[in-house]
Amino acid sequence: MSRSLTNSDNLDKGLLLQSLALHSLFADPLSIISPPRQTSTMTDNDQKWATLLLGGNHGARLETSFNRLIPSNPRCKLCAVPFGGLGGTIFGLFGRHPWKKNPTLCNVCQIYAEKHPGGAEVEIALLFADVRGSTSLAETMTPTAFKRMLDTFYATASDVLIGHHAWIDKFVGDEVVAFFFPNGFPKRHHAEVALTAARDLLRVTGGEGLPIGIGVHAGRAYVGTVGGDHVSDVTAVGDDVNIAARLAAAAEAHTIFVSESAWSAAGVSDDGTESREVELKGKSARLKVRVLKGEAYPTELVSQRAVGV
Ligand SMILES: [Zn+2]
Repeated sequence: MSRSLTNSDNLDKGLLLQSLALHSLFADPLSIISPPRQTSTMTDNDQKWATLLLGGNHGARLETSFNRLIPSNPRCKLCAVPFGGLGGTIFGLFGRHPWKKNPTLCNVCQIYAEKHPGGAEVEIALLFADVRGSTSLAETMTPTAFKRMLDTFYATASDVLIGHHAWIDKFVGDEVVAFFFPNGFPKRHHAEVALTAARDLLRVTGGEGLPIGIGVHAGRAYVGTVGGDHVSDVTAVGDDVNIAARLAAAAEAHTIFVSESAWSAAGVSDDGTESREVELKGKSARLKVRVLKGEAYPTELVSQRAVGV
C-alpha cells in the first residue's frame, strides 16, 4: 500500500491527466489560490499560505496529487514535481528543476516563496525518523558502504512517505522529516495518515535491514518561509516540531514513539498497546507515548547488505 495510491484516492486519472498535465508543466502551482477568510493579524501573504495549507486551494491539491503519479523521487516538497528519473527529465525540459539554494524546492515554488514570504499556524502531524546507532554502524563498514546504506534509507523513506502523501521536509544526515496536513489525500485525519506511514516505514526499512527509530506527534506549527527577506527554505517551526524530533531521538531502533496527542487524533482504539512515559531532551515534563515495535534485524545484516553481501 505504501508504494501506490489507495482506491479511495485513486481519482479519475484520465481526467486528471487531461486537465492537469499542461498545467503542471507550465503553471505556477500556487497561483490559483482563492482568498481565504481574513483575520486581523494576518498579512495577505499569510492568507495565501493558510489557504494553501488548509486545503482551500483545490486545484493545487489535485495538481500535487497528479505530480505524485509521475516518477521519480526526489521531488519538490511543495508541488511534488519529480526531480529524478524520466519525470524529472521531462519537467526539466520545460524549465522545472531543483532550486540551487534549496534543492527540496523547485525553481517555480522558490519564486513563489520569495514573492510571498510568510506563513500560517496550522494543525499538523509530524514524522521524524532516523537511523539509530549510525555512528557505531559506520565503524563496521567502509565509508562507501555507509553512504550506500544512507542512499537505501533515502530511497526507501521517499517511496513510503510519498506514497502516503507526506510533505518530505528534508533529509539531514541519517534523518528524514515529514509533515502531514489536514488538506491532504486521502481524506483521513492527518495524524492517522502519519501513523500509518510510520508503521509502513518501520516495516519496509526493517526489510532493508535498517535500524530506524521513529517519532510521530500531532499539534500546531508555523509553516511557511524562513530567512526573512532572503527566503532560504519553506518549513515548519514550533514547540510541537521540537517534540516530534525529540520523540524520534528517544525511540530505540525498530520502534515508533507516538505521542498521546497523535495517538488519540489518529482515532486508534485502546487495544492495549504499550504506553510509557519518556523524558525528552530539553523538555521539563515527561511525555506519555505509545510504543510500536517492528521486527529487529541483527546489525551484521545491515553491514552485509550495505556492502552487497
Ligand atoms: Zn515546486
